[in-house]
Amino acid sequence: MLIDARTLPTDAVVQADVCVVGGGPAGITLAAELLGTGNRVCVLESGGVTVEPRPQSLARAESVGLSYYRVDATRFRALGGASHRWISARARPLDPLDFEARPGVPDSGWPFDSEHLTPYYGRAHRVLGLGPFDYDAASWEKERSRLPLDPAHVVTTMFRFGPLDVVLRRRQRLVDGEDVQVYVHATAQELVADDLGSRVAAVSVASGPARRFTVRAQLFVLAAGGIDNPRLLLLSTGAQPQGLGNGHDLVGRYFMEHPHTRTGMLRLQGAARHLDMSLHRRRSFPDATVQATLTPAPHVVRARSLLNSTWWLRPIPAALTSPAAAALSAFREGVTHRVRVPHALGHLRTLVSHPVDTARCAGELAVERGRGRWLTADRAFVELRAMSEQAPNPASRVTLGRQRDHLGQRRARLDWRLTGLDRESIRAAQGILDQAVREAGIGRVERPLGDERPPALIGGGCHHMGTTRMHPSPRRGVVDPDCRVHGWRTCSWRAARSSPPSATPIRR
Ligand SMILES: Cc1cc2nc3c(=O)[nH]c(=O)nc-3n(C[C@H](O)[C@H](O)[C@H](O)COP(=O)(O)OP(=O)(O)OC[C@H]3O[C@@H](n4cnc5c(N)ncnc54)[C@H](O)[C@@H]3O)c2cc1C
Repeated sequence: MLIDARTLPTDAVVQADVCVVGGGPAGITLAAELLGTGNRVCVLESGGVTVEPRPQSLARAESVGLSYYRVDATRFRALGGASHRWISARARPLDPLDFEARPGVPDSGWPFDSEHLTPYYGRAHRVLGLGPFDYDAASWEKERSRLPLDPAHVVTTMFRFGPLDVVLRRRQRLVDGEDVQVYVHATAQELVADDLGSRVAAVSVASGPARRFTVRAQLFVLAAGGIDNPRLLLLSTGAQPQGLGNGHDLVGRYFMEHPHTRTGMLRLQGAARHLDMSLHRRRSFPDATVQATLTPAPHVVRARSLLNSTWWLRPIPAALTSPAAAALSAFREGVTHRVRVPHALGHLRTLVSHPVDTARCAGELAVERGRGRWLTADRAFVELRAMSEQAPNPASRVTLGRQRDHLGQRRARLDWRLTGLDRESIRAAQGILDQAVREAGIGRVERPLGDERPPALIGGGCHHMGTTRMHPSPRRGVVDPDCRVHGWRTCSWRAARSSPPSATPIRR
């Protein structure tokens, strides 16, 4: 049931068992899973049904760290959240390595291992419409081919792609039904504690600059995303002066992205130029859409204390290996993400001093954009695009900024930072790939990270993570292994039909 919160009288009080703050993929999925459990569930969504300028302006944040796209170009205030702008709903389970505490990677390791989540991946697959749960490259290889690389160095990893509107369709089920109250234009302002200060009893909600109402519930779920969850906790100073759950100054820390880097090039030689590597192109089968990437073998990553990463391959025409191509794509990224282009003057000089290359590149890029294929099909050059794990870094963080939004709340301030290990790991992974292709006798990796001129930019992937770190100890994490904020009691509520068992933390 959809309710526009602007129609509620000021000072209204809504009663619920479970109140979900945020109507993005997480909030909508959770609310849908609670259907039929007998709980009175309400969802508070800051935006409207579609992305509207006024609520969207609430997503603006100060950005003071790494050259980063504008935060409000990566998060969308509307029922459906960031899924409103998905261009490819790609998915794969986390690797066992991702959960391990790795020597050489400070603060790494989860309180449980990957097996703990295994039972839920099948369910997530159904929710996301991803088809059968199968990530074995061999299953797809019957019809498509991969590069012949020694798995002792590099393994072929599969990604799956789901329908782009899967969250919006699920949203519709909530809106059409009577069981869940979905409030739009309802921005949570502050979590309010009970008289004992041990439990969150209510949330104060704004439906306009001077309009407030209250939701009282047994259980509050923060599903406002990796920037607004810590923001809301930090704004909740009535409950705890330094921010709710922030007794150890951890809320907002360890902000992570998946660093995305377009760096290096696979140069295929001789007969290898004609190798079939169609498994690396996105391809739809009747029950699934798949694409392969290349990943450094887990035992090598462990042994060398690196971060995990994976590489997308894209054969490109020779024209796009020129410096003019890098300059043009830097400007294209700047326009797409509406940010200042680093080294803009240098790029401009490159374009002016290489007019022929510039014209060729522009032609190739225009044709690719229009028809999805290149003018010249040369298979000697394969662009490498890295998607990497970021090292946990307490200095990379979300705090409250000085500016205020139109509802009067302090905006988020993002200070995204990478460490030397983040860059070293990307470069080392390129080295591992280089060794594998050389040993296979098919070519080499050229222009690894740091050797390109101008230097490759490390951007984000609109994946906001960290900021409410999970750890069994309140001194090292904001939430416990069951996602409950340390130090705050939760009331009894009726669990979902097939609710997850409590996590059993691994002792570290
Ligand atoms: C262009 C793009 C492409 C992406 N592609 C992929 C992909 O292929 N694969 C993938 O895994 N991920 C992808 N992502 C990331 C993915 O969208 C996010 O991981 C996902 O949306 C997170 O879901 P969420 O519900 O936690 O947060 P969000 O989607 O951010 O939703 C949070 C919701 O909370 C609301 N909200 C915020 N603050 C408040 C408040 N105070 N009160 C009430 N409501 C509030 C917001 O309006 C929003 O609707 C992509 C993101 C973008 C932008």
